[in-house]
Amino acid sequence: MVIVGGGLAGAEAAFQVATRGGHAVLFEMKPGRRSPAHTLDTLAELVCSNSLKSNDIGTASGLLKAEMRRMNSLVLAVAEETSVPAGGTLAVDREAFSVRVTERLKEAGVEIVTEEVTSIPDDSPVVIATGPLTSEAFAASINEHVGTENLYFYDAVAPIVYAESIDTEKTYMASRYDKGPADYMNCPMNTAEYEAFVSALIEADSVVPHEFESTPYFEGCMPIEALAERGPDTLMFGPMRPVGLVDPRTGRRPHAVVQLRRENTEGTLYNLVGFQTRLKFSEQKKVFSMIPGLESAEFARLGKLHRNTYIDSPRLLTRFQRLSSEPRIFFAGQITGVEGYMESALSGLLAGINSLLVASGTSPCVVPPPETISGALMRYISGDGADTGEDSKRPFQPMNSNFGLLSAPEIRNKKERRAKQVELAIAAMDRWANESLQPND
Ligand SMILES: Cc1cc2nc3c(=O)[nH]c(=O)nc-3n(C[C@H](O)[C@H](O)[C@H](O)COP(=O)(O)OP(=O)(O)OC[C@H]3O[C@@H](n4cnc5c(N)ncnc54)[C@H](O)[C@@H]3O)c2cc1C
Repeated sequence: MVIVGGGLAGAEAAFQVATRGGHAVLFEMKPGRRSPAHTLDTLAELVCSNSLKSNDIGTASGLLKAEMRRMNSLVLAVAEETSVPAGGTLAVDREAFSVRVTERLKEAGVEIVTEEVTSIPDDSPVVIATGPLTSEAFAASINEHVGTENLYFYDAVAPIVYAESIDTEKTYMASRYDKGPADYMNCPMNTAEYEAFVSALIEADSVVPHEFESTPYFEGCMPIEALAERGPDTLMFGPMRPVGLVDPRTGRRPHAVVQLRRENTEGTLYNLVGFQTRLKFSEQKKVFSMIPGLESAEFARLGKLHRNTYIDSPRLLTRFQRLSSEPRIFFAGQITGVEGYMESALSGLLAGINSLLVASGTSPCVVPPPETISGALMRYISGDGADTGEDSKRPFQPMNSNFGLLSAPEIRNKKERRAKQVELAIAAMDRWANESLQPND
């Protein structure tokens, strides 16, 4: 089995193949060639923060870890082995982590080849896990297989809030000029609210981009704060334009409007339309909670704008992460549009298992059930899961694990509802792992 890219996804995929009876050949271009963010010589490098987020099973990241433990994840096991004290967060000594992952792969019999791959190998199957900073030559080869319009080099991510945390007393449903169903949730602002909001946006601190990310913005995905800096009225003529959005409660058009669009079929998540941003996370929470209706909003994902090679997975991949047009090719990790270290490892884990199933021809591919956060995320990013139909037309932006991906039991109390979601997820994962996964390692 050939796996291209020895990051979190590629390392996890190779480990799953090797410990389930396959032979894994893992190509990694380091140390001969490095992306602008990679510095270590060893595999599974954490390029930025050393935090793998919360370990608390009551959080989406903690639940994801609990599920991955049941799937025998290498990345999780080594992270726990090399962890540093960080309260409820799983943080690691990044060098020890990377060295230990590399050792574990060698011990498992993975063949590691340190060279850049410049075109998709002819092997069947092959797993592509070259990450957000895929080398240029290889990206060109991916392009030939998926089409230029389906391969992106930057993301422009707008924040997403949980529907249940929106104060709907302050918002109204409407679509512009009443064209089509009233699908958008509108947050109206009066003049004073708008002016205060624009000032706060301009004053808020942004993330300083890495040198390799400081390219000019495309007009269509300018950060909201950069638009605000162009002049006090710019947003009113841009993403916050109120035209055609009469508030049915007052019969008048508000001074400005923030539109929220459903992010998933269940309607548990709403996206702030046109609000891609580079503001620091803490600033986003502060400034966006000034929007009427979002005063107590809980964010499932915060906005980002950075260099990120990824494919249009909902249009290209099956839920097993196979290219529909060329099923021998699997994609894994951040290049599929999952966001985050553990999410990338999860994607690699499943691609590894499935590529081995395909190679051995023994049984069909597998994916965890939709009640699990792992299964829900795989369905979200793929084209043949729950999010088809209308949602397949949504512009694709990377996604992390969050509770909005899971269907919500009819329980009013949020804490109890989340606890139920966790209980259902773990029970479903245990059942599935028992029935569908061969033991490994
Ligand atoms: C600057 C930056 C900061 C980030 N910060 C965070 C963070 O703080 N927290 C977080 O959760 N996520 C962060 N991310 C996202 C992070 O990259 C992913 O979460 C995770 O590393 C993705 O795993 P991956 O295996 O898909 O890719 P990677 O871990 O990047 O692994 C891809 C591997 O493929 C290799 N490669 C690339 N092209 C080729 C080729 N042609 N031939 C052979 N090998 C190749 C690369 O050298 C690399 O080792 C950040 C990303 C970037 C770019």
